[in-house]
Amino acid sequence: MAPYADYICRGEGVKFMRELLGEHVDAPYIQPVITQKQTLFSLPILGRVGYVFAGLGCPNGCDFCATSAFFKRKHIRLLPDGPAILRAIERLRLIYPDMADFWINDEDFLLNKARGRGFLEAIRKSDMPPLSLSIFSSVRALSQFTASELVEMGIDWVWVGYEGKRAGYSKMKGKSFRELFGELHEHGISVLASMIIGFDYQTPEIIEEEFEELMSLRPTMCQFLIYGPAHGTPLYERYKAEGRLDPVAFSDHSKHDGFSLTFNHPHIGPEEMSRIQRSLYHREFERLGPSVYRLVDDLLQGYLNLSDHEAPRVRAKARRCKDIVHRAMVLLLGSRKYVSPGVADWLTELYKKLVEETGPMSPRQHLIAKVVPAMIEYTEFKLRHNIGQQPKFSRKTYRQVKKTYSQVLAGMLPYKLGLHNRGSGF
Ligand code: SF4
Repeated sequence: MAPYADYICRGEGVKFMRELLGEHVDAPYIQPVITQKQTLFSLPILGRVGYVFAGLGCPNGCDFCATSAFFKRKHIRLLPDGPAILRAIERLRLIYPDMADFWINDEDFLLNKARGRGFLEAIRKSDMPPLSLSIFSSVRALSQFTASELVEMGIDWVWVGYEGKRAGYSKMKGKSFRELFGELHEHGISVLASMIIGFDYQTPEIIEEEFEELMSLRPTMCQFLIYGPAHGTPLYERYKAEGRLDPVAFSDHSKHDGFSLTFNHPHIGPEEMSRIQRSLYHREFERLGPSVYRLVDDLLQGYLNLSDHEAPRVRAKARRCKDIVHRAMVLLLGSRKYVSPGVADWLTELYKKLVEETGPMSPRQHLIAKVVPAMIEYTEFKLRHNIGQQPKFSRKTYRQVKKTYSQVLAGMLPYKLGLHNRGSGF
C-alpha cells in the first residue's frame, strides 16, 4: 500500500484511530465541530448548518447497502441517547449561538424508538429555539412517530428510500408512502425520495408505473439510482453466485456510482438503463419543478397548518417557516423562464399565495428579485465550468513534528527507488 498510505482502517474508524494514537478506545466520543455555509443561486441563505454525528451502520440490512454490510448490520451509537444528541447540538450552539440548522448523521435516525423518544423528551424539556433538522430515515422508523412529534423535535427534512414498490425491504413496512408523505408535507416537512431502478422484477413498464406513483406523491426532491452490487454486500454475493456480474463493467470501479449497470439484468441492458435513468430525472424536473420551490411549498403548508399548534416551540417553528418563505419570494418570478410552462404557472400561483399569506415583498426584496436571473445565469456558468464546486483541499496535523520540505522528500525517496520494505503493513 505504501507510498500511498501508512495504514488502512478496516471497520469503525474512531476506535481504529484511537488505537493507532495510543488513546483509550472506550472513552466517550467527542463530536468534531464541522459546519457549512449554505448558498442558493450563489446567494447566502439562512445560517450555517452544523453536523451532528449520531451513529454508524444500519440494522435494516437492505441487500445493496454497503454501510449496513460494512458494520455487519449493527448500529453503532456514537451518541447513545436523546439527551446526548441534544448536548451535541448545544455544544455547536455554544460556538455558533445563532445556529438552528443541523444535519443529524445517522443512517436511519429514528429507527431506535427509545432513543428517538428520548430526544423528543429532551427537546421538550430544553429551552432550545425551534430547530431545523435534516435526517436520513425510513418508513419503518418514521411510522413510530406522529408528524407533529417530528416537528416538535425540529425535523423538517427527511431522506426516505422509496426504492421500488415491490422491493420488499423491511424498512418499507409501516404507513403507506401516500399517508406518510402527505402528513409530512402538511407539517412543513420536506421529503427526498430515493428510487432504485434495476431490480430483477422491473421491466421498463414497471419502472414507469413506479415512477408515476412516486410523482403522484409529490416528493420535494428525488434521487434515481441504478441498483448496484457493491463489494461485500449480500447483493454482490448473490450476483456473484449466479454468475451475473458483468466482468468489464463491474471491474471498472468508477462505474460503482449508481449511474451504471454493472450486472446482467433480465429485462434491460446497460444503455437502456442509463437512458431510463436520465429520462426520470428530466421528467421529474419538468413535472414537479425545481426542488427548492417544492420546499417553499412544504414550508408554506407548515406555516399555515402549525400556527395554532398547542406547543409553543411548534408555533415558533411556524413563524420561522413564514419568515423563510417570505424571504424566498425574491426567487420565484425570475425563475419562471427556466422551467416548463406548467411549472411556470405553478410558480406564479405560489407567488400569489405567498403574497396573500405573508404579505407583499418590501422595496429591498424587489431590488434583489431583479438580480436573481443574473445570479441563476452566474450559478449555471459556475456549474458548467466546475468553478467552486468542491471545497478546497485542507490538511490538518495533530501532534506531529513539523518536517521541512527536504525531509519529506527524503522520506519518499526509498519508495520512489523501490527500496522500501514491501511487507504486509498494518
Ligand atoms: S435503510 Fe438505508 S442505511 Fe439502512 S440498510 Fe437500508 S439502505 Fe442501508
